[in-house]
Amino acid sequence: IIRVEGLRKAFGEREVLRGIDLEVATGEVVVIIGPSGCGKSTLLRCLNALETPTQGRIWFRDELLGQQEKNGRLIPRPEVEVDRQRTRIGMVFQRFNLFPHMTALGNVMEAPMRVKGLSRAQAEELGTKLLGRVGLADRKDEYPARLSGGQQQRVAIARALAMEPDVMLFDEATSALDPELADEVLQVMKDLAREGMTMLVVTHEMAFAREVAQRVVVLDAGVVLEQGPPSVIFTRPSQPRTREFLRKVL
Ligand code: ATP
Ligand code: MG
Repeated sequence: IIRVEGLRKAFGEREVLRGIDLEVATGEVVVIIGPSGCGKSTLLRCLNALETPTQGRIWFRDELLGQQEKNGRLIPRPEVEVDRQRTRIGMVFQRFNLFPHMTALGNVMEAPMRVKGLSRAQAEELGTKLLGRVGLADRKDEYPARLSGGQQQRVAIARALAMEPDVMLFDEATSALDPELADEVLQVMKDLAREGMTMLVVTHEMAFAREVAQRVVVLDAGVVLEQGPPSVIFTRPSQPRTREFLRKVL
């Protein structure tokens, strides 16, 4: 469903992604790990067209993401088309970024009404269903300030799901949370994986990776150092740098 070819991204002089090739199949759960600053967030942001690659291509289904080919050259896509592509790819960040002046339900209803043109009643039905799915049926009328971090993050997941994305990207969705609250969020992510959602997950939760991921991708200094099933990566990685990284986090 996603294919990344020769992806490079520089900020000024500094090249952060240095030629990434990656494929993700429909229904696959891929966990991305790697040291701080190696480019994990930048990669996810490229996959959601929040950043424009300096070089390389990202295919989403059968379309180039954020770019189009004209006369053999790659040029940016019109913003409305990028927005349309973006609605197919949900993203959940470390910081929940909920709208503080809207209730949990209001947060989930907003995009389906504004972008998908759902009526208030339809959006309310959808939002109520999704908040139930993340275990927050009884908290739907609360404002974010009165929800725990774990609850806020689950609202953020419900909000992303409201656009009925084909792929969900998670960037350290649990690292700002206490372990107990992180577990609630991880449980929701596990449920999603079990239901067949295609997921790319940047996380330090190695237990989650072991249990849920079909594949672990190790990024290091902007390149894919190695990848494979968690059983292989966590027990007998082929790269010394992976071993060194795992020794620090396991
Ligand atoms: P962490 O585990 O700490 O979240 P990461 O792997 O997600 O790290 P990135 O956030 O992708 O790393 O950042 C990779 C590098 O790119 C860092 O050195 C960072 O300072 C730099 N960088 C990221 N975004 C920008 C930006 N908008 N402008 C300039 N430099 C940036
Ligand atoms: Mg990051």
